[in-house]
Amino acid sequence: MDFSISPDIEAVRDMVSRFMANEVVPVMEGFEKRGEFPRELVRKAGEAGLYGAVFPESVGGSNMGYMAAVVIIEEMSRQEVRFTSCNNQQGGTCPSAIYLAGTPQQVDKYVPNLLAGKTIGMMSLSETDSGSDALIAMKTFAKRDGDVYRISGQKMWASIANETDVGILMAKTDRDAGAKGVTAFIVEPKKYPGFKAQPIDMLGMSKAFRTNIVFLDDFVVPVENRLGEEGEGAKIIMRALQPGRLNVAAKCLGLAQACFEEATRYANERTVRQQPLGRYQMIQDSIAEMATAIEASRGLVYRAAWAMDNGQPSNRIASIAKYHASQTCKMCADKAQQIFGGYGLAREYRVSWYRVYADMLYNGEGSANVQKIIIAEDALGYKAADRHHGRTGLRDMRQADVAAAER
Ligand SMILES: Cc1cc2nc3c(=O)[nH]c(=O)nc-3n(C[C@H](O)[C@H](O)[C@H](O)COP(=O)(O)OP(=O)(O)OC[C@H]3O[C@@H](n4cnc5c(N)ncnc54)[C@H](O)[C@@H]3O)c2cc1C
Repeated sequence: MDFSISPDIEAVRDMVSRFMANEVVPVMEGFEKRGEFPRELVRKAGEAGLYGAVFPESVGGSNMGYMAAVVIIEEMSRQEVRFTSCNNQQGGTCPSAIYLAGTPQQVDKYVPNLLAGKTIGMMSLSETDSGSDALIAMKTFAKRDGDVYRISGQKMWASIANETDVGILMAKTDRDAGAKGVTAFIVEPKKYPGFKAQPIDMLGMSKAFRTNIVFLDDFVVPVENRLGEEGEGAKIIMRALQPGRLNVAAKCLGLAQACFEEATRYANERTVRQQPLGRYQMIQDSIAEMATAIEASRGLVYRAAWAMDNGQPSNRIASIAKYHASQTCKMCADKAQQIFGGYGLAREYRVSWYRVYADMLYNGEGSANVQKIIIAEDALGYKAADRHHGRTGLRDMRQADVAAAER
């Protein structure tokens, strides 16, 4: 087995590291204080290729693959996890859904601008009364009215919906068909009436990247903006969520590493009874637990990326990677905060808010329990996690230039 990262991907990591250190870290706190969305920074990140690693060059990607994507996200998250809040919207679930299921015209029109950070994305699935069971319990309804759909309902937790230009929104077109009644739409809230996003007041989370309740009142979506056929929404979003889940696992890994680096630095600097904290064995216990779990998570996240890059079944391993990395991240955020003692609660120290992000990532893109259900049902023989491998009928992200060939 070869566990090395290719020189090309290491070069990408260096590039991302410089981009984050020079462009993002020095200014992010200012955007947070002003509560301002860093639109120009997102565009610069797009221009630098931070969102396009798994997309073919024909749509503005670099086609470097999932290993490159997880290394990029890991490094972004290590340096400034708040700035990764739009990664799935710009380079994950949102453009993936359009690329996987869109017509060549839809792919051309929307994907390159999302990857370039020129338009801001969104993926709105969750609702007030539906989270883990979003596809079944969904109430938002899209009614066909000539050459448009009119969508009414209320969406919940739609990240950066208050800024979005182009997003994916899921709604039922058949109330009685369960998940098979769900349809995916490409929405343009600034262009059509009936869409109102209201940021949610979140404890300890970014004021620059907001998560929203969305009120839909006969919100207009042209029929040409339907993604796939009516009733295909569940298949499309489940497939697009798979890279999204890996993105979140990589975010967890980067944030766990940030917690570890903060904790070891502080344990060396802070003295108690004339000794650095790091000299005490109970602190060493925490440091060793963190180091070990991070290495294990990194192995799993990279293994899942390798499977996806090599066309192997990857749903089960992606669930395992996401579950392990999110556990590791929560544990590292907790231990880092404990090592900081009282200072771990002061806003000026990053570990004070790292815990909230670890909790959020634990639930995002399929909660820890949902990952455990996938893993256990596979193990018990109830439902194979990789049963849909190679049989979705959707375009393959790794078959470069398929969309171009179809044109
Ligand atoms: C900051 C933030 C940003 C988000 N951004 C987006 C976004 O952009 N777009 C979007 O669509 N959604 C988004 N979400 C929603 C997120 O995906 C959901 O929070 C997640 O899917 C869980 O849904 P829920 O919060 O309704 O929890 P619920 O589904 O109500 O679950 C509550 C608890 O029950 C557990 N649980 C659920 N089902 C089972 C079961 N069968 N057995 C055992 N335990 C179970 C869960 O693990 C969880 O611990 C965001 C959420 C947050 C907090």
